Amino acid sequence: KLHNTILELKGNIRVFCRVRPLLPDDGPGTDTVVSFPTSTEALGRGIELVQSGQKYPFTFDKVFNHEASQQDVFIEISQLVQSALDGYKVCIFAYGQTGSGKTYTMMGRTEAPELKGLIPRSLEQIFQISQSLKDQGWKYKMQASILEIYNESIRDLLSSNRSSGFETSRTENGVPVTGKQYTIKHDANGNTHVSDLTIVDVCSANEISSLLHQAAQSRSVGRTQMNEQSSRSHFVFTLRICGINENTEQQVQGVLNLIDLAGSERLSRSGATGDRLKETQAINRSLSSLSDVIFALAKKEEHVPFRNSKLTYLLQPCLGGDSKTLMFVNISPDPSSTGESLCSLRFAARVN
Ligand code: ADP
Ligand code: MG
Repeated sequence: KLHNTILELKGNIRVFCRVRPLLPDDGPGTDTVVSFPTSTEALGRGIELVQSGQKYPFTFDKVFNHEASQQDVFIEISQLVQSALDGYKVCIFAYGQTGSGKTYTMMGRTEAPELKGLIPRSLEQIFQISQSLKDQGWKYKMQASILEIYNESIRDLLSSNRSSGFETSRTENGVPVTGKQYTIKHDANGNTHVSDLTIVDVCSANEISSLLHQAAQSRSVGRTQMNEQSSRSHFVFTLRICGINENTEQQVQGVLNLIDLAGSERLSRSGATGDRLKETQAINRSLSSLSDVIFALAKKEEHVPFRNSKLTYLLQPCLGGDSKTLMFVNISPDPSSTGESLCSLRFAARVN
């Protein structure tokens, strides 16, 4: 296509696995349950889990062990990120149980620059490259939105009025109170419109980092209001990129979606009641819809069930067609997580 930078993808869907280091709070148990095969064909792509003496090997497009740095991971996705500037629609997901390293992978930590995750790194790269393409006549307009999906409801994390970021369906004296609706519509050009959603024009990575900060704050406000954990909602960052070349009049429209998914853990059937049960069912439903959609796309099936969840419907134009999808499956090496890890690897192996 454009700048000769496009990664040749095996199909349009790839799966990377990342295993975080053991942490002091992990355990008990010192058994090594995760290992990395070193045979030529599995090197850097294989992972093996041991549960009750049984071995479960998996192969992905890439496997990062506990020693992989944020930079090591970013190097492997930077071309995919860049293809959004060439007009591709890109989705990068982090999937895994709570505590497996999804947020570390996507956002990273703020203590030191080398701990930055792939969201800040991707945005810095996008702005840097868009600047350097000025010489060739390219001008870009970028717009960001940040939302979360909780219990199949959208919440605008950039809403200036914090409490109105929630979708409302309240009634007062029997009269419905009209609040934010966040209705999702796709137009013929493959653009997504979410009514009432805050869209911010952005010109620098710094501007985006203050938006991310604002989103993190309204997320934690929501947590106390709704007694929810951020790990129970999907976090969706979207950057829309419109480029026009003033010399050639060539135009491109790319989208970069970076998604920190809700924790995939199952709750024990006896433990979950009321809101907690409803919440877990909503998460399970939307994660399995995501898997169904990616699976159907990978198999080039005619019917792709995008409409089965808010998340897949929202991302529909960015998942089908010639868009590019990367799924990180995050794994905890904690021996007590082996059951969940196996579920995550099986989920990822299905979409791989
Ligand atoms: P999740 O978002 O999946 O719930 P987190 O990203 O919050 O999990 O990670 C859980 C803990 O593990 C955090 O304290 C995080 O800093 C740490 N952690 C995760 N991945 C890594 C890693 N690759 N290297 C070092 N620490 C990590
Ligand atoms: Mg998290």
